[in-house]
Amino acid sequence: MTESTDGRPVLVLNAGSSSLKYQLVLPESGAVRAGGVVERIGESGSDVADHSAALSAMTERLRADGVDLDDVPLRAVGHRVVHGGPEFSAPVVIDDGVLDRIRQLSALAPLHNPAAVIGIEAARRHYDVPHVAVFDTAFFSSLPAPASTYAVPRDLAAKHSIRRYGFHGTSHQFVAQATADLLGCPLGDLRQVILHLGNGCSASAVHGGRAVETSMGLTPLQGLVMGTRSGDVDPGLHAYLAREAGMTLDEIDTLLNKKSGVLGLSGVNDFRELVQRVDAGDEDARLAFDVFVHRLKHYVGAYLAILGGADVLVFTAGIGQHSAPVRAAVAEGLAELGIVVDSALNEERSNEARVISPDGSHVVVAVVPTNEELAIARQTADLVG
Ligand code: ADP
Repeated sequence: MTESTDGRPVLVLNAGSSSLKYQLVLPESGAVRAGGVVERIGESGSDVADHSAALSAMTERLRADGVDLDDVPLRAVGHRVVHGGPEFSAPVVIDDGVLDRIRQLSALAPLHNPAAVIGIEAARRHYDVPHVAVFDTAFFSSLPAPASTYAVPRDLAAKHSIRRYGFHGTSHQFVAQATADLLGCPLGDLRQVILHLGNGCSASAVHGGRAVETSMGLTPLQGLVMGTRSGDVDPGLHAYLAREAGMTLDEIDTLLNKKSGVLGLSGVNDFRELVQRVDAGDEDARLAFDVFVHRLKHYVGAYLAILGGADVLVFTAGIGQHSAPVRAAVAEGLAELGIVVDSALNEERSNEARVISPDGSHVVVAVVPTNEELAIARQTADLVG
């Protein structure tokens, strides 16, 4: 069967150091033909030696799911790339030069960009179609200078590309538009505070579709409390730990990225498990939940001030979409700021975008599912035509 370009899917790839998430998406309809994740890449005892083997494993799994890539020609491959640095403010078709520049940006994202590069290299060998990089930082390249600038000497910042970049941009951008669609309101008229609460967590302030603030910074470590990341700490903590605890910089980096956040406070990083422990009376879990919510309120308040008031507060990603207790706790006590959650609407289980504030609320509170794969597929298709 021959298919028109419109019928040809985009393969969306998200390569991590030991995993490869994939989805075959029809960008126009948003239909997902297949998807999954290949895990344990390169680990001892794993059948999947490297990212090239992961792509072969993916092809086999797609075939088992009834999708033969030989019969279903791809339109393009869209790659999620975490760090676009100062230069990439929009998706770009990947050639050797672009790949080199993404590789060079590994210094800014050592936990993320090297894996993306390996994934792109392997995919370019496997699929002779256009490859597009979609950057997590791109949406935030519009941050006004007062928001993107750290108060450190300007020559040093310029030399080392030090600024606030922001991450999860593909999600924040998608959710900003989806929220406008939900409210039946032009994007250009809306002031939005968006809370993306997944394994990684970030907040953004979006005015008329343009990002004006976000909680992540030079790296995805800044801002909200996350599953294993501390979010904001006193920057003096690094020097203190080095001097007092004798820790190396790498140890401190690992501590704050992998052993802190909800995990560091409670011993678990999965939010479902945390809430179960809170309900069972676990005090460490209670503190972790309360710190998580306290930090969220801190950012909501800050962004109301940055935006001069908001029209809508949006919850998205795993925790934001599914945890009614988090949404209720964030809104608690904010009635005077116009933020109220209707408890019956909040408790309803649904995978649809929906409003959870009472009719006529000053600030609409909404739950809006994110879909980064669809956003990447659409941006990829738009670029390759
Ligand atoms: P990622 O950031 O990796 O894309 P997700 O957006 O899927 O992750 O979010 C994962 C987080 O969402 C985990 O902490 C998980 O426990 C949490 N989560 C998923 N479902 C629920 C639920 N029903 N209640 C509370 N938390 C949930």
